Amino acid sequence: MKIVNPATEDVIAEVEPVDAAEVDRAVERARRAYATWRDVAPGERARLLRRFAAQVEEHAGELAALEVANAGHTIGNARWEAGNVRDVLTFYSGAPERNHGKQIPVPGGVDVTFQEPLGVVGVIVPWNFPMVIMMWGVAPALAAGNTVIVKPAEWTPLTALRLAELALAAGLPEGVLQVLPGAGEVAGARLVEHPDVAKIVFTGSTEVGKEIAAKCANSIKRLTLELGGKSANIVFADSDLDKAAKTAPYAVFDNAGQDCCARSRILVEHTVYDDFLVRLAQAVQNVKVGDPLDESTEMGPLISAEHLERVRGFVDREPYVQGSCPSGKGYWFPPTVLTSQVTDRAFTEEIFGPVVSVVPFRDEAHAVEIANDTRYGLSGSIWTRDVGRALRVARAVESGNLSVNSHSSVRYWTPFGGFKQSGLGRELGPDALAAFTETKNVFISTE
Ligand code: NAD
Repeated sequence: MKIVNPATEDVIAEVEPVDAAEVDRAVERARRAYATWRDVAPGERARLLRRFAAQVEEHAGELAALEVANAGHTIGNARWEAGNVRDVLTFYSGAPERNHGKQIPVPGGVDVTFQEPLGVVGVIVPWNFPMVIMMWGVAPALAAGNTVIVKPAEWTPLTALRLAELALAAGLPEGVLQVLPGAGEVAGARLVEHPDVAKIVFTGSTEVGKEIAAKCANSIKRLTLELGGKSANIVFADSDLDKAAKTAPYAVFDNAGQDCCARSRILVEHTVYDDFLVRLAQAVQNVKVGDPLDESTEMGPLISAEHLERVRGFVDREPYVQGSCPSGKGYWFPPTVLTSQVTDRAFTEEIFGPVVSVVPFRDEAHAVEIANDTRYGLSGSIWTRDVGRALRVARAVESGNLSVNSHSSVRYWTPFGGFKQSGLGRELGPDALAAFTETKNVFISTE
C-alpha cells in the first residue's frame, strides 16, 4: 500500500498489507497471549498501561508529525490527538483495580458478580482520526484483560503501527496488542468472521457497519459500532448570535469536515436567518486553510483524490459563500456554505467534507422535527439563552452527544456514541469496561 501525504501528494511510505492467513496467525498469537494477560495482576496491568502512556508522551511530537504527514491534520490538532491518546491510556490505567463486581444479598448463601474479559478483541479504525479512535477501543479493552488486534484504515496506518511498537517498548507482552494494516474486505473481513475473535469494535461508515453487524449476528459476536452522522447545529433567535455564527465554521470544518460529529446542518430561527448568514459568511472567509505544518492553519486538505471528488459532487450549484484554499498539489477543498432545502442531498447525506447547509426554521417544534428527520443521531449543538428551552430541545433531539452554547462533544471521561444508525453501544467514559467484559454471576451456598 502506497501511503500518501494528502497535502503534497508525495508517497511517504509503503506498507505491506496483510492477507487472511496472516490475520489467522495474529489471532492465534492473541489467543495465546490472552491466556496469561487476563491473569496479570490488576496493579501490574495498570502499571504497564501507565508505562505505555509514558511512551506516548515521550514520542508525542513524533506521533503528531506522523499524523500531519499521513492524514493532513493540522499540527495543532495532531498534537492534541497525541495528548488524547496519552490521556485515554492514563484514564483506563486506573481501571484494572476498579473493575469491581457486586455482592448481591440472597438467602442461603453469597451472590457475587465478576466482570470477565471477553478474549481477543478486533478494533477496526477509519482514516479520519487514526490514532485517537484506535485508542478509544484499545485502552479499555486491554485494561479489562483482553488482547487486541487493530486493523487501521488503508490510507492511514502509520500512527497505529508506531503505537504498537511503543506498547512493546513499554513492556506489554508480545501478542497483547497487534496492528495489522490491510484491506477492509480482506484483513477487516477476516477479523470479523474469525471464530476466535470475541468482539469487534468498528468505527466507520454506516454501510460497512451494517455488513459487519450482519456477519457478527451469525455467532452473536459482541459488537460496538461508531458510524456516520449528519448533526444539527440549532440556533435560536435569543442566542448570542455573534458567538453562534463565529463558532459554527469550526464545528463543521475542523479536520476539513472529516469528522463524524461535524455539525453539517445549521438550523436557524427564521427571524434571525439573514442576520446569521451574514455573520457566518464573514467567519467562513476567515478560516485559514493551508499547510498543515503552519501553526496558524485551521484546516488542512481532504484525505485523498477519490474523497475530494466525492465531496465536490455535493456542491452542484452556486454556494452562498466559499472560503479559500491552496491550489496545486494536495487534495484541497474550500470551506463551503450552501443555503438548502431540507430535501437536498447535501442536507440529508453525510458529506464528510467542508460543506455545511443552512436552513431556516419556524419555531422550537419545527427545529426539533428537522433535526430528527435523519437516520443518524450522533452529535449536535443548541444555541439559546433560555435554559428551559435548552433542556427541552436537548431531551427531544435524538442524538448521543449534545452541547448547549458550545460545540464540544468528545471527552474521554464522558460516554460517546450514537442513536439510530449512528451506532450501537458507547465508548469512553467511566463505564467503557462494560463493553469489554461479560458479567458472570456466582452463587455460593453457605449451608
Ligand atoms: P469505512 O467504513 O469505509 O472504513 C472503516 C474501516 O473499516 C477501515 O479500516 C476499512 O478498511 C474497514 N472495512 C471496510 N470494509 C470492511 C469490511 N467489509 N469488513 C471489515 N472491515 C472493513 O469508513 P471510512 O471511510 O474509513 O470512515 C468514514 C466514516 O467513518 C464516516 O461515515 C464517519 O462518519 C465514520 N466515523 C464515525 C465515527 C464515530 O465515532 N461515530 C468516528 C469517525 C468516523
